[in-house]
Amino acid sequence: MGHGLRRRGARVVDAAGTALLPALHDHHLHLRSLAAQASSVCVGPPSVRGRDEFVAKLREAASRCAEGHWIRAIGYHESVAGELDRWALDNIVAEHPVRVQHCSGALWILNSTGLATSRLDTSYANGVQRAADGSATGRLWRLDGLGRQVFGATAANMFDVSRDLAAMGVASITDATPEQTNEGIADLVTLVKSGEIVQRLHLMAPVEVECDDDHVTVGPVKVVLDDLTLPELDELVETVAAAHRAGRGVAIHCVSTVQLVLAITAFDAAGASTLDRIEHGAVIPVELIPALRRLGITIVTQPNFVAERGDRYLRDVAPEDRDSLYRCRSLLEAGVRVAFGTDAPFGGHNPWAAMQAAVGRTTHRGEMLGASERISPLVALRLFLGSAENPSSPRRLAVGERADLCLLDVPLDAALRQLESVSVRATIIDGILRHVI
Ligand SMILES: [Zn+2]
Repeated sequence: MGHGLRRRGARVVDAAGTALLPALHDHHLHLRSLAAQASSVCVGPPSVRGRDEFVAKLREAASRCAEGHWIRAIGYHESVAGELDRWALDNIVAEHPVRVQHCSGALWILNSTGLATSRLDTSYANGVQRAADGSATGRLWRLDGLGRQVFGATAANMFDVSRDLAAMGVASITDATPEQTNEGIADLVTLVKSGEIVQRLHLMAPVEVECDDDHVTVGPVKVVLDDLTLPELDELVETVAAAHRAGRGVAIHCVSTVQLVLAITAFDAAGASTLDRIEHGAVIPVELIPALRRLGITIVTQPNFVAERGDRYLRDVAPEDRDSLYRCRSLLEAGVRVAFGTDAPFGGHNPWAAMQAAVGRTTHRGEMLGASERISPLVALRLFLGSAENPSSPRRLAVGERADLCLLDVPLDAALRQLESVSVRATIIDGILRHVI
């Protein structure tokens, strides 16, 4: 650094020949869900197998928990410590509000502090189970909608999740949560302004939702397709057209061939914008690749699923269909725009592991899935370097570019040889040092 540029008291990080890159952008991630998962303890099999382990897990969580904060435990099954109720939980942790989710997802069990905090002890809502004497047992059936209301955002530890992402060099995120609301966005803006979240956020959101903030922007309109409830073509065409009229793109979730065909047909009818995207592109038959190229839409895919779910795909997907799974190289060679996102928490949130999966295409068990879709480490890295608005074009380090930087602990060629074990020494977001080791 030139001495003239150095401000008094500025922190100096000696880069010593290591690689300085534009910081990473995760192009598809669910921040709230990631924070909720990160702040949950798993209390089900196979990681917790009996009452002693269950008690130890909850008490350990209590010892780390700030006063008044919820302990949120997930994955519980009766085989661990039998049927639970408020009194059983009170014997384990009484001082913090505790809620334990059954692995079926249909039942929450709260301790007495949790019932009092959420005011459910005096609620007669359907699903709040009561003992013979009328007192709430702490067992709440199918109260998820109500749960979100009463538990609020307190479960989510955004601070830790945001720091964790910064430590991996992630400076910005496209959040793929489908039902973003104005209130939800206002919450996120508050979390960014307070420094709880350090990344810049680009949010998929319905067309009527707006946001005017330097660090939180509204991106494409998310459309989730499901094979069993596919919309009429006209309806989808109008969704695309309405988004375009509002100056927005559309991000269509496509994980099957029928969904992809419908999306392509809709883009053909409405006209495609360079802001339009296909999320996942889990299955892309080779015949559809030219259409994706012609439309100029971006495929935002998750190579980490090849590693994380590949063994399941090898078991469940017919051999003749496996080449269509989570394509990468064939798309790039055909001139299709491609970018990477992790889909965390549904996929692992480490982008370096995702890059490695794109390079190796090996499953957890070491099987190969889609060898012809392997790409080089440099190409894999570049697919995390695009901007929110232009995911497939890697940003460069240049004067006038945003100061989102990521300093590795080794030179670039060494990093590319061992993507999975890359360590990020420093992450600078908007000119502010947010992570350093
Ligand atoms: Zn997703």
